[in-house]
Amino acid sequence: MAKSKFEYVRDFEADDTCLPNCWIVVRLDGRNFGRGGFSEQHEFKKPNDDRALQLMTKCAQTVMEELEDIAIAYGQSDEYSFVFKKKSRWFKRRASKFMTHVVSQFASSYVFYWKDYFKDQQLLYPPGFDGRIVLYPSNQNLKDYLSWRQADCHINNLYNTVFWMLVQRSGLTPMQAQERLQGTLAGDKNEILFSEFNINYNNEPLMYRKGTVLIWQKINEVMTKKIKLPKDAEEKEVEVTRTRTKVVPLHCDIIGDQFWEEYPEILAE
Ligand code: ATP
Ligand code: ATP
Ligand code: MG
Ligand code: MG
Ligand code: MG
Ligand code: MG
Repeated sequence: MAKSKFEYVRDFEADDTCLPNCWIVVRLDGRNFGRGGFSEQHEFKKPNDDRALQLMTKCAQTVMEELEDIAIAYGQSDEYSFVFKKKSRWFKRRASKFMTHVVSQFASSYVFYWKDYFKDQQLLYPPGFDGRIVLYPSNQNLKDYLSWRQADCHINNLYNTVFWMLVQRSGLTPMQAQERLQGTLAGDKNEILFSEFNINYNNEPLMYRKGTVLIWQKINEVMTKKIKLPKDAEEKEVEVTRTRTKVVPLHCDIIGDQFWEEYPEILAE
């Protein structure tokens, strides 16, 4: 095609190719979901609304299925991280393509699937998500990144669990609950939960304490198929087994070695 005299403006575009052989992580996060924001306006159950967590995971599954080369994802609260394979050549490794495709696919999915999770709770306005991209050159860096997010999930969830117990069960104002928890260590928070609310934090749902890990797994699907052989007069039903790879959610520890030993293929490619 003939080039116009305006073509030169393309040269103003910056090169944002991701360094080869690095894990490419895109993390997104809901805009203003906290105090006075989206979660309160949509009456999220505090501290953990299952509908919201499950919708986030549905959107993340959609991202993994629609886009290329995502090896693993991890989510908690209003955030999700997506890890692209270090050898990915998708969009010539352009950072802006990775980030914008992840965030826009996620955001449109959030709106598209909202009603499947929130039923009669109306979506009041279009939510937004921010995105960032970070490269990790070693497997250890990547594992530490994911450990960091899961540790964050644990710290916040322990705090939020006690905080909301103090507000909902003991009738403290948010300010009083915050003051009560000022300077407390994890052990103190566990103790408050146990002695005042008879809650053993370790028995709280894994999805709240560990967040959600999404990985690809081979699933054997058995289905019946109708076939008609030329010599037969009628169609026959036969069982066939197909192996498909599916995105499956786990709520497990990813800080220790066990997870990585159980699923070595995640880091292998
Ligand atoms: P920013 O725009 O800077 O991200 P934010 O208000 O979204 O601001 P975050 O640090 O991302 O701040 O915090 C998200 C907040 O959203 C949580 O602290 C919590 O209050 C709320 N939230 C997110 N997911 C849930 C959920 N499943 N159930 C209840 N509350 C949630
Ligand atoms: P990519 O993912 O690389 O952007 P693409 O198929 O979206 O691939 P574009 O170069 O963005 O490629 O082209 C968008 C195409 O979408 C147009 O060429 C046209 O065929 C179609 N399209 C977009 N808007 C309209 C519209 N308003 N009416 C009809 N067709 C449209
Ligand atoms: Mg934030
Ligand atoms: Mg947020
Ligand atoms: Mg957040
Ligand atoms: Mg296009």
